[in-house]
Amino acid sequence: MKSTHHIEDPDVVLIGAGIMSSTLGAMLKELDPTLKIQLYEMTEGFGEEASSGWHNAGTGHAGLCELSYTPDYGPDGEVAVGKAIEIFNQFEQSKQFWAYAVRTGMLSNTADFINPVPHLSFVYGQEQVDFLRSRFKQMKAHHFYEAMTYTEDRDEIKALAPLLVEGRDDTPIAVTKMELGTDVNFGALSGKFVEWLGKQAGAGYATSHRVLDITKSNGRWTLKIKDLDSGRVFTNTAKFVFIGAGGGSLPLLQKSGIAEAKGFGGFPIGGQWLVCDKPEIVEKHMAKVYGMSPGAAPTMAVPHLDTRVINGKKALLFGPYAAWTTKFLHVKGSITDLPASIRTDNIASLVKVGLHNIPLVRYLIQQGTQSMKTRMGELLKFYPAANPEDWELIDAGIRVQAIKKEDGDAGIVHFGTEVITSQDRSISALLGASPGASVSTNIIVEVVKRCFAEKLATPEGHERMKAMVPSYDEDLSLPEHAERQRTLSEEAFKTLNCIR
Ligand SMILES: Cc1cc2nc3c(=O)[nH]c(=O)nc-3n(C[C@H](O)[C@H](O)[C@H](O)COP(=O)(O)OP(=O)(O)OC[C@H]3O[C@@H](n4cnc5c(N)ncnc54)[C@H](O)[C@@H]3O)c2cc1C
Repeated sequence: MKSTHHIEDPDVVLIGAGIMSSTLGAMLKELDPTLKIQLYEMTEGFGEEASSGWHNAGTGHAGLCELSYTPDYGPDGEVAVGKAIEIFNQFEQSKQFWAYAVRTGMLSNTADFINPVPHLSFVYGQEQVDFLRSRFKQMKAHHFYEAMTYTEDRDEIKALAPLLVEGRDDTPIAVTKMELGTDVNFGALSGKFVEWLGKQAGAGYATSHRVLDITKSNGRWTLKIKDLDSGRVFTNTAKFVFIGAGGGSLPLLQKSGIAEAKGFGGFPIGGQWLVCDKPEIVEKHMAKVYGMSPGAAPTMAVPHLDTRVINGKKALLFGPYAAWTTKFLHVKGSITDLPASIRTDNIASLVKVGLHNIPLVRYLIQQGTQSMKTRMGELLKFYPAANPEDWELIDAGIRVQAIKKEDGDAGIVHFGTEVITSQDRSISALLGASPGASVSTNIIVEVVKRCFAEKLATPEGHERMKAMVPSYDEDLSLPEHAERQRTLSEEAFKTLNCIR
């Protein structure tokens, strides 16, 4: 896996070997095989930060079960489901691209990175049950969710997910189910894309290499890079740079000095999971079960009890428990990351956001320091018969949420993903993390549209992109595209071995 293959003065430098840079590398090389591409990653492997299997929940987010995408009732008095539909539409593009990659031999052994796992929403108490029933009614009416089922019947729920019912009192409960949900190991997927890229002519990657600085002169970007094994510092240049460095993106973007980066700040949120690998418990649960967000919890702290398939082994994961941190990266981060990101152009926004979000900061500190007994309290709401001895606490990845200058007054922490591109389109960076890896193909298609528009403008480029992501210029959520969506989705799921 380790490689220090350097392409001198390539067309494109990709920073980071997570799902974002690896997807862009694979897509660009397929779009134009003559492009010279070099990737640098500072850890020893691929996808070891936020994209790593254990650092995220691996949910193929398609709005099937995540109640945080449908938090409110609309003006018609029913739950508004527009956001879920948007995410479903974006996840379709990921499925299409991954299926293309399997068909063309870029990816192999689908079970290493994607497995079918039903997605369930689970609620308890009459108010939540009424909410889920309305959500179901609205979703079922759209062709994306026509296969969704709903039940309040305990025996039926027990058959779907026995752990939810074992030892439960008689408070009303309800569940929706989408059979065709997925569990994705984004770290494994990232690694497969990077390894494929490294085998192509005119492409290379170097792990244990940290990009220290980015500056522009004479129409090219110069990158200062450190080989972390030897300590050697050297430079390389590129026409285009993609900063897909996850939590490491903000500091690099600030170093680039582009006007578009001014005023951005980062708000890191750490996380933890409870994990169980006892076969007798793991085998009783085959679903990703998402509940409702408790009180002050940020949207990404919605609890869920998940089947995970990592390195061919099944396990159960529960969480996330959010945590306060000042690190931007899990593996190679430092507690000085947050203070070091403070600049004159973002300090006002950071202070205002800090002041406006004292309850969030308090919540994060309280979450990170709570006892095992309190953590178990959350799990018991999902799995009333859970035994603390069967569960172990592990660290999840860190999300660095974006703070924009213009939102400083309002004190907003953005939970979405921001793509920041220079006016001359020679550099692009991703900030933020949600819904993240699942919609990586859609995000990267947007980067390609913005920064490589000339390649899509030729008939050959358009045809190549259509082959990779057939719906890249279509809206599959429109009723007139329902049949096409069903066909594309089924083809992709079959290729990805998610339909048995
Ligand atoms: C707790 C949690 C749960 C999540 N759950 C889900 C989920 O269920 N489904 C989902 O779709 N998404 C989920 N996400 C979001 C998802 O994990 C991220 O959106 C996604 O992994 C981000 O990928 P990336 O490539 O941008 O970043 P990363 O995977 O972090 O990759 C960035 C890479 O850049 C490298 N790097 C950084 N700085 C430098 C530098 N200076 N030089 C060289 N290399 C550098 C890092 O080492 C890293 O490998 C979750 C995230 C968290 C934290």
